[in-house]
Amino acid sequence: MDIAVNLSRIRTEIAAACARCGRDPAGVRLVAVSKTHPAEAVMAAHAAGQELFGESYVQEFLVKSDEVAAPVQWHFIGHLQSNKARLLPGKVALIHSVDRLSLAEEISRQWQKHGLTADVLIEVNLGGEASKSGVDAAELETLLRQMAALPSLAVRGLMTLPPYLADPEEVRPYFCRLRELAREVDALALPGVAMRELSMGMSHDFAVAIEEGATLVRIGTAIFGERGGR
Ligand SMILES: *Cc1c(COP(=O)(O)O)cnc(C)c1O
Repeated sequence: MDIAVNLSRIRTEIAAACARCGRDPAGVRLVAVSKTHPAEAVMAAHAAGQELFGESYVQEFLVKSDEVAAPVQWHFIGHLQSNKARLLPGKVALIHSVDRLSLAEEISRQWQKHGLTADVLIEVNLGGEASKSGVDAAELETLLRQMAALPSLAVRGLMTLPPYLADPEEVRPYFCRLRELAREVDALALPGVAMRELSMGMSHDFAVAIEEGATLVRIGTAIFGERGGR
């Protein structure tokens, strides 16, 4: 597994996807998803120019971020239990996966204690799969109106984890829907809510996500290889 080679191939594919739809590649950030992979893998990616990493499990992240000596930036992308939010202020630049008011309240409370404002995305469940986290699209506006009142939290956009479909073209409608939702939310002009980021697209479908407007693509396997069990 040559992480540098993989990263360079992905950067080329990101640039190609941007060229196809007339987007500036500077508007698409690559989040290298390093969950289950060791600190050495993060260091190797950093040596190849990668500075932004995504993690999904709080304990694993805390150990790993201590081990990584390089000045990298971390995003939290996994399901977050409210009682673990207190472990993250000052350590993650963006949380992609806020999907309920109780979690948003706890994040705001914990970041406020540190005199910080938490940048978050709202995870939307577009597939209607009961097993997945994410707020239903129908509940999104209500949640955002409640979150807009929280003092130490800023909503920067939306994230989705669509159902796994082998053909990326079949995932396109989900990406398209997330972009439309973001436009509808922006029209509400809620305080503390600005739809700047669309976090969508993973190893097998990021090119399509970019064509539909992704500003953050979360890529793990295509950079670091298959994940072992956890
Ligand atoms: C693991 C994970 C990814 C990366 O998926 P790959 O298919 O390995 O690229 C992206 N987003 C989330 C939320 C994840 O949990």
